[in-house]
Amino acid sequence: MNSRTAAFAFCISLLCLIGGAQAQKAPIYPVVQGKYYKFEKIADGVYYASPELNGTPFPFGSNPFFGANLVVIVNKDDVVLVDSPTTPRAAHALLEDIKRLTSKPVRTVINTHWHYDHTDANSVFGPDVQIIAHDYVRQAIKKFDILNNEPFRSSHRNSGPALVARFQKQIVAEKNPAHKAALQRNLADAQAALKEFVGDIKAIKPTPPNVTYSDRLVLHRGTREIQLLFLGRGHTGGDTVVFLPRERIVATGDLMESRLAYMGSAFFDEWIKTLGALKQLNWAVTLPGHGVPFTDKGLVTAYQAYLADVMAQAAKLRAQGVSADDAARRVDLTAHAKDFPDIEGVGAEVRGIRRVYAWMDETGRK
Ligand SMILES: [Zn+2]
Repeated sequence: MNSRTAAFAFCISLLCLIGGAQAQKAPIYPVVQGKYYKFEKIADGVYYASPELNGTPFPFGSNPFFGANLVVIVNKDDVVLVDSPTTPRAAHALLEDIKRLTSKPVRTVINTHWHYDHTDANSVFGPDVQIIAHDYVRQAIKKFDILNNEPFRSSHRNSGPALVARFQKQIVAEKNPAHKAALQRNLADAQAALKEFVGDIKAIKPTPPNVTYSDRLVLHRGTREIQLLFLGRGHTGGDTVVFLPRERIVATGDLMESRLAYMGSAFFDEWIKTLGALKQLNWAVTLPGHGVPFTDKGLVTAYQAYLADVMAQAAKLRAQGVSADDAARRVDLTAHAKDFPDIEGVGAEVRGIRRVYAWMDETGRK
């Protein structure tokens, strides 16, 4: 594995919880800086929350232990959160930071899907808080033994030590004294966060949503309309898209990120179709579960092309008798790097390619 491929694999091993270069220019929004989260104000009362180390962006910041980027929707009387952080500790940090935006209580949490970095802090919210997700999410959290399975298992075991090693290496190579100092702070933060993350595993109590839906659910909060839409299977079996029709904002979880998403739970051909339905919604900006806000529907089309290419190349290698793990080293997706610069060399994340193979077994696809 060369260093570029290693960087790519590293990024994916964290479910891309840390940021990276972006193909397109991200829109610029006003920022409210919390202690642990940066809040970008997308519209009145709608904030995009990104966890950060030291309040500074990648590569000199970003806290992978806090999980996905979230959306905080402040309404007339309450707050709706899209996704919960990775650990209870991270959730408490988030709730502290939200006080910089509003004194209103969080009364609703929406889980866009079942992965740990979107649900593991559900237990922090009391019985008076509605935790809402697609029916599949409740089943998944009840049945999948998620702390002993992917994606949590590898990400948890690999991400912390890998991040610490990365900062150590960067510190040695860095010539700029200010950057070196920032990296040293980040190393200390990462080491402390790693301890917390490991410690927090005992504190994580996988908690399923207490309200579920199957196709569509609409929340009315003051004058705000919040639509929860299941557009079809894709990144997982039960991805929710949260659409604010008046503001023309859509929160997509990991169904559509601004970069490559983890593919280990995917339903590939349905994912491409579901992304087609996402494009039909009348949104002006997408707030993804990882990455940065984006406004260009062309990025969704580019991701559909990427997924189609993954499927086609994996199918070809599989037909030649190549194992999934070897196929993960051989697939060449570099043609998509212009749209997804986190593709830094030949190869793809192994859990994703194993899943393509398993999905082909399940569906009889060739
Ligand atoms: Zn995620």
